[in-house]
Amino acid sequence: MYRLQDAGGNPRAPDRLSGRFAPSPTGPLHVGSLIAAVASRCEALSSGAAWHLRIDDIDPPREQAGARDAIPPSLARFGLHWTGPIRFQSARLPGYRDALTDLASKGLLYRCRCTRAMLAGASCYPGSCRHRVARPGCDTTLSHSPWPSVADALRLRLDGSIHIDDAVQGRQHTVLEQNPGDIVVRRRDGLVAYALATAVDDADVETVVRGADLLEATTAQCAILRALDLSAPRWAHVPVALDGNGDKLGKSTSARAIDTMEPLSTLQAVWSFLGQARFAADTLDAFWREAPRRWSMQEVPAVRSRLAPSGLA
Ligand code: GLU
Repeated sequence: MYRLQDAGGNPRAPDRLSGRFAPSPTGPLHVGSLIAAVASRCEALSSGAAWHLRIDDIDPPREQAGARDAIPPSLARFGLHWTGPIRFQSARLPGYRDALTDLASKGLLYRCRCTRAMLAGASCYPGSCRHRVARPGCDTTLSHSPWPSVADALRLRLDGSIHIDDAVQGRQHTVLEQNPGDIVVRRRDGLVAYALATAVDDADVETVVRGADLLEATTAQCAILRALDLSAPRWAHVPVALDGNGDKLGKSTSARAIDTMEPLSTLQAVWSFLGQARFAADTLDAFWREAPRRWSMQEVPAVRSRLAPSGLA
């Protein structure tokens, strides 16, 4: 019921043999996302899997005008070509709604009216609204754009614990009541929460490769998948690049825009950053012919962040 649909809107058979790159259109392609794109493409291609591009456009207030259109050509300039049509999360709302309805039918969702101010200082949600159980259907609607007035958020009850065997960061164990606690799966403005949308879409993916800044989010996504009786993908969280001040290189920092004029040398810097052994390639095509064959996830440094080499910072 939550499966991706083909271009004609028909249900598609599970496609476990795939990797994905899933930028949010909140700004142009930046160094952090380029690292995730290269690592996820190498991992997918090295195992003969397809590599998909998914644009996570489910948060219109955070989107930057033009970013949705700018990201695909920037990727193509680095030879980062994807398989099939671009997938847009904004086109997947019916699947997310089905997932919410399923969670509500299992009695796992409740309507939460707590505000940020009410929760200030709490390390995780104290469960105050747990008794306000959501009804499937009428309480599980979603919106494409923020509702004019705020409503109840929908929270998912999380109990028990989760183990994640991350291919780079190793085994992670989390007690859900402590972290993250009951999570919001539909926001108070009617928009689907990132954790739910991404969990549902990644149920179709073989290995999710992305930046280690998203490692915490993985716990919530695994818990959602478990509640939906879907199996989790393999996870691999690669280090995030830091500038000389220790800040993450990304759209929110003053890092210079990604250099699309010298794509080959930028790719080589990303390759070294990911701990891979250097090899000679004098064209983008030559780089991409070799890179998936030489890619080794074992060589990726098992750290959450590391200083970017001068070619990237
Ligand atoms: N779209 C989110 C981002 O760009 C999540 C990416 C992911 O899950 O890989 O931060």
